[in-house]
Amino acid sequence: MTVALYTLGCKLNYAETSQLQSMFEREGHTVVPFGQPADVVIINTCTVTENADRECRQIIRRALRISPKAFIGVTGCYAQLQPEEIASIDGVDAVFGAQEKFRITELIGDFQKVDTPRCFVSDIGGVIDFAEAQSYEYDSRTRAFLKIQDGCNYKCSFCTIPRARGRSRAIDFQRIPEKIRALEAAGYHEIVLSGINIGDYRAPSGETFTDVIHLIEQMQPRLRIRISSIEPNLLTQEIIETIAQSSVLCPSFHIPLQSGSPEVLRHMRRRYNVEQYRDLIFRIKASMPHAAIGADVIVGFPTETNVHFEETYTFVETLPISYLHVFSYSERDNTPAAEYSVRTGGVPMRQRAERSRQLRLLSAEKKRQFYQSQCGTERIVIPEQRNPKTGLWEGWTENYIRVEFTAPSMLMQAPVRVLLQRTYGDIVQSDFLYTISPYSVGNPSYIPIVL
Ligand code: SF4
Repeated sequence: MTVALYTLGCKLNYAETSQLQSMFEREGHTVVPFGQPADVVIINTCTVTENADRECRQIIRRALRISPKAFIGVTGCYAQLQPEEIASIDGVDAVFGAQEKFRITELIGDFQKVDTPRCFVSDIGGVIDFAEAQSYEYDSRTRAFLKIQDGCNYKCSFCTIPRARGRSRAIDFQRIPEKIRALEAAGYHEIVLSGINIGDYRAPSGETFTDVIHLIEQMQPRLRIRISSIEPNLLTQEIIETIAQSSVLCPSFHIPLQSGSPEVLRHMRRRYNVEQYRDLIFRIKASMPHAAIGADVIVGFPTETNVHFEETYTFVETLPISYLHVFSYSERDNTPAAEYSVRTGGVPMRQRAERSRQLRLLSAEKKRQFYQSQCGTERIVIPEQRNPKTGLWEGWTENYIRVEFTAPSMLMQAPVRVLLQRTYGDIVQSDFLYTISPYSVGNPSYIPIVL
């Protein structure tokens, strides 16, 4: 059978969809790009915002326009939390929960369309098994996402992820070297370590995320490794110092802030305060002045007043942060924050949009300043694609700056050294210096290759 897959949401979902693709291929099916006619369409959903159900419906309609007789299966976080709601959507044949995601072919043998959709969704609360997954970005083999952790034991008041993904669990510590070596052998130049609450990594044999960082440093793989988002209370000084001295681990961090108001942070039930967050950012910058630091911020939390928002704005403005991911708060069923919203009436949508707009502008300015501060430095870039309009190569530096440069057309995505020259919109125009091998982020012992 031909199978098309579609992913909504985070990088972990993309990694898991890749795993689903491998599962279907192993079972003898042919995976085709979404948009081509297929016998089976599987949609891997997200539940972070209320848009999830709307997007899910749109994708189902699109899939049925392309393949009117396709079997439609829906899985992912939205499926785990609202299976009946999804089953009631016209055209859906089956809903699979988080635990059933990798058992789709076992649960549905014939993939025949049915009148009454079937729901395979069990309670995720007690699950301790870890489902491995990895994926890659773009068609080229530049960057892979390696899932090392899943689930979350925290209880942030706005978040439904712990209910959708269950308790924190992790890949076996001993599996990490073989996973990294396999991706290295497959020709990847960058791995992003991914998870829901990655800093909370704890292997069945007891190792922590700090041990993972030391392990990678000892391995010295011939590629670079980036950490995805990490909670501020879990990013230890030991991890910072190891990354600062590493030739493999990238000096780029994504550290959720969510609010710069002490009161709102408490209502959000986050596990740090603004002083600790500020101290962390300055400690990172003290060891790695060139480090990129991104932060998530939620605006329009139900108890966020204008004064609270001003606190957040000023707090972010005074921190050496490189960019923000701004989210408008979205009420999620069965969360304490949604109850606050019922009690207070919540922040009007127009105000959420306005606060979002202000922080996005601040983010653009922060990014411009960070990019500007790095002009004149040499960095290593993995060329990802050639812009068909400009003919220039584009890629990311180890410290997460998007650059473009002119270079020989047969680069084949090998790491190159560039000199950052000037900012141009959202990108830094750079001069290509030379291709390097073996790959090394900060180690001057690279070997230039003459093309
Ligand atoms: S740390 Fe908080 S926001 Fe992140 S997944 Fe866990 S509960 Fe949700």
